Amino acid sequence: MSSKKLTTTAGAPVPSNQKSLTAGDRGPVLLQDYQLLEKLAHQNRERIPERVVHAKGWGAFGTLTITNDISKYTCAKIFSEVGKKTEMLARFSTVAGEMGAADAERDVRGFALKFYTEEGNWDLVGNNTPVFFIKDGYKFPDFIRTQKRHPRTNLRSATAMWDFWSSVPESLHQVTILMSDRGLPKSPMHMNGYGSHTFSFWNNEGERYWVKFHFKTQQGHEFLTNEEAKKVVGETRESYQEQLFGSIEEGKFPKWKLMVQIMPEEDATKTPYNPFDLTRVWPHADYPLIEVGEMELNKNPDNYFQYIENAAFSPSNVVPGISWSPDKVLQSRIFSYADAHRYRLGTHYEALPANTPKTEVNHYHKDGSMRFFDNNSGNPDAYYEPNSFGGPVEVPEAKEPPMKISGDIQRYEDQDEVGDFKQPGDLFRMFNDEQKARLFSNIAEAMEGVPSEIVERQLKHFDAADPAYGAGVRKALGL
Ligand code: NDP
Repeated sequence: MSSKKLTTTAGAPVPSNQKSLTAGDRGPVLLQDYQLLEKLAHQNRERIPERVVHAKGWGAFGTLTITNDISKYTCAKIFSEVGKKTEMLARFSTVAGEMGAADAERDVRGFALKFYTEEGNWDLVGNNTPVFFIKDGYKFPDFIRTQKRHPRTNLRSATAMWDFWSSVPESLHQVTILMSDRGLPKSPMHMNGYGSHTFSFWNNEGERYWVKFHFKTQQGHEFLTNEEAKKVVGETRESYQEQLFGSIEEGKFPKWKLMVQIMPEEDATKTPYNPFDLTRVWPHADYPLIEVGEMELNKNPDNYFQYIENAAFSPSNVVPGISWSPDKVLQSRIFSYADAHRYRLGTHYEALPANTPKTEVNHYHKDGSMRFFDNNSGNPDAYYEPNSFGGPVEVPEAKEPPMKISGDIQRYEDQDEVGDFKQPGDLFRMFNDEQKARLFSNIAEAMEGVPSEIVERQLKHFDAADPAYGAGVRKALGL
């Protein structure tokens, strides 16, 4: 293979140093050896800040193929016809661990998807769980702090975790999933994905529907027990990366069925649960799953940093026909995700290859770091809007119906009719005896060393979900 000529970053050839030296020729290096300085300076800048949450991730490219017509609910072109294929990128992750953390740890998994649609990028930034620990975006930074390292010991703190969870009973649903088998999937291929929030669809008739997204694994749910996970981590800390990358390299492409639950707009005032509360699911009996398509991951990125580390997923990225809802945590994330990327990757992070839409991009964001694309303007006279010099103009192709909102402005949610304990109880009652036994022992193990007043506070929540839940955990704790 012929090699390319090594050059400086300015493109000049690097002079060859190869000549035999005598003792008298041997001298120092000088600061003028700019090639040396460049090399060292670049190494110092090879790392960007890791994500505050979801730092450890594994990803791949793939395709979404539509298998069922849902165009009566949404005019989004990605869903416009059966057989339609859209390229996409997926990134899975743990939440709490740093970039070097082991993969096989009990944690919620991120399930972030970017669909490069013909109308621009649609991102669905969900998890492998249908709910989350909080229903109020204000609590997110504090919750995450309890999952990270203690300021003094620099160790993860079970006390902080259970102190927070026991003081925030809305977390019980997600805590129950986390401590169940689904809290430690065997690989990214063996778990479901959920949009988790309530989003909305709108159609050309000006109708809005509330929607929940579900991605059902076609590989089956496989999980690790705590003991199995310890063994895996002892052998390899990179089990997810190895399995996802390896499987795609071998041509075994993992698949998920995309399903939606659809709620007519006016139903939102009638359900006994707040349909915009991120700690609640919509029971399948009320809103059955409707098939939409199949997602297949079929291409490993050629360069991890370029396509996975630089990938920036944000719930703010929607396309016509898909929109948001009054879910208060979703509203918080619409701000915080794009803002996290501006900090982590830079102002114009959307121009990085992983994030560039396949469609034409026209906007009036000028100057600033990374504004290297599109000649920093396209048309140099059209640098403000509106203008008479042919700059881009807003052309509403389809008009989103107004989102009807009522009620008092407030951050904290009032409880709904079902409260924080019914749905965790429903989940617990679905488990068979073995699943319950593993739930109890996982919780007991996770509570090791936690002060008894915190344990007692949490046990009351288990009791409230189901007396057998509290009793089982008490027994596992030896109480
Ligand atoms: P259903 O019996 O109709 O649905 C039960 C759901 O539970 C299935 O989707 C199943 O997913 C899922 N499930 C099974 N085992 C576990 C587990 N260990 N951890 C998490 N989820 C699991 O009942 P409902 O819709 O009335 O929901 C009952 C409870 O099921 C809810 O309170 C909620 O905790 C849980 N659940 C509900 C979901 C929903 O959107 N309605 C989604 C996921 C969980 P699968 O079919 O993929 O195995």
